[in-house]
Amino acid sequence: MFLVSACLAGLNTRYDGTNCCKRYFKSLVAQGKALPVCPEQLGGLPTPREPVELVRGDGKSVLNGRAKAIGKKSGKNYTQNLLRGTDEVLKIAAMLKIKKAFLKDGSPSCGSSYIKVGNKKNKGKGVTAAALINAGIKVLSDDIMETL
Ligand code: SF4
Repeated sequence: MFLVSACLAGLNTRYDGTNCCKRYFKSLVAQGKALPVCPEQLGGLPTPREPVELVRGDGKSVLNGRAKAIGKKSGKNYTQNLLRGTDEVLKIAAMLKIKKAFLKDGSPSCGSSYIKVGNKKNKGKGVTAAALINAGIKVLSDDIMETL
């Protein structure tokens, strides 16, 4: 069993109420091989919601208390929501003894090789991706489908 970002499996969990479905991941879920999760929804945020970006660092820095997740328009601090959602994903991963996760790159929660800040792609992990790696789970970008 794998974890997969819910938006990759076709669920409308993105901040704007859309998805970024890739047929391959939808098929994995349909076959019972992957479980879709959305850390931002699990952290109590609504959909649609204000888009969030990480400031002063990446997800690892958020976990260390050095960076924050801030609303792009309002400047509101959503750090606790991203941390709460990450804890819930970690619980699910532990329950199912998950070893590998395929996460949507670029997201402040799910980004696995880069996170978007403004129009830039900054190298680093999202908050949930960083926590899963800390827990010993292999986190791969949605671009790396051939490794299965
Ligand atoms: S938090 Fe992750 S699963 Fe949820 S919409 Fe964003 S990229 Fe997709």
